[in-house]
Amino acid sequence: MRATGRTVLRDARRWAMALIALVFCGVLASGAVARAEEGRVALTFDDLPGLSLVPDQPYLNYLNDMLLRGLKRHHMPATGFVNESKLDMIDRPQQIANLQKWLDAGFDLGNHTFSHDSPDELGAAGYIADIARGEPVTRGLLAARHRSLSWFRHPYLETGFPEAVKLEINRWLEAHGYRVAPVTIDADDWEFAEPYDDALSRHDEARRLRIRRQYLAYTERTIAWYQSASTALFGRQIAYVMLLHATRLNADCIDDLADILKRRHLKPVRLDQAMADPVYRLGDPYVGHDGVAWLERWSEARHRDLPWASWQDPPKDIVEEYDRTNNDRRDLPAKAPPVGR
Ligand SMILES: [Zn+2]
Repeated sequence: MRATGRTVLRDARRWAMALIALVFCGVLASGAVARAEEGRVALTFDDLPGLSLVPDQPYLNYLNDMLLRGLKRHHMPATGFVNESKLDMIDRPQQIANLQKWLDAGFDLGNHTFSHDSPDELGAAGYIADIARGEPVTRGLLAARHRSLSWFRHPYLETGFPEAVKLEINRWLEAHGYRVAPVTIDADDWEFAEPYDDALSRHDEARRLRIRRQYLAYTERTIAWYQSASTALFGRQIAYVMLLHATRLNADCIDDLADILKRRHLKPVRLDQAMADPVYRLGDPYVGHDGVAWLERWSEARHRDLPWASWQDPPKDIVEEYDRTNNDRRDLPAKAPPVGR
């Protein structure tokens, strides 16, 4: 059929309408995908008022200041978990002042036991006593601000074994108003942090920068792995709880960590906001010696594999450097690392 000028125009209009509709649907669809991909993460920092290879008060003060300043700069809420045994490590009033800074910054504090011992070593009664011993200062600081102590984080993520021990600990925690803070992203930052301290105290700038680069690359890759694990297990992105430690490494890397979260489409939220995700109602079905993260606990209970083929351990040289600084204390630097850079 020979097309007249009018039908050509009509067809062109139809095509244009179809094209507009197609583009509109595409925008909607891509918007929906973008929204679905946007995730949330609660940042948690263990071992307050700070973890360092060589305990030194100015160094600990500095890392708390830098960490808190960075978190505030990037509007990233955080919860810090305290070991009150560390308060007496050097200067108690200054250590307590470091905890106060977390509350002054608008962040929350939780209990991480007094001594950071494992329930497997202490047994239920000993572990419970260690939790109770770990709360008076933190509870007092919170009470002074009309707030209550409600979060608990297990050291080494060891939750008690055998099952009777775990249940006894859980019953005590619940009766005393605690909520266990699970971990759904763990990028082994502690393993990088001590070699980093060591490099700083030896003024080995090339090594310090190399460790920092390795840490950030490993963190980004590990977050991506947890995101693939969440999809494998639940078919969606859960709201994550990320385990970090109050270290100089994280204080120095806070801008880069904020960038990584942005690139992974993760918006930092408060711990209670992340815990509102229904996934956390699954609780903790795992009973065993290992301090494994929660996606692994749930995968075992659901008999569903996580994407282990794409998992990567921390770089070999980092693991070796960590073992060296920990196993051979004779090799420790005598002086604390310098404050500032
Ligand atoms: Zn810890």
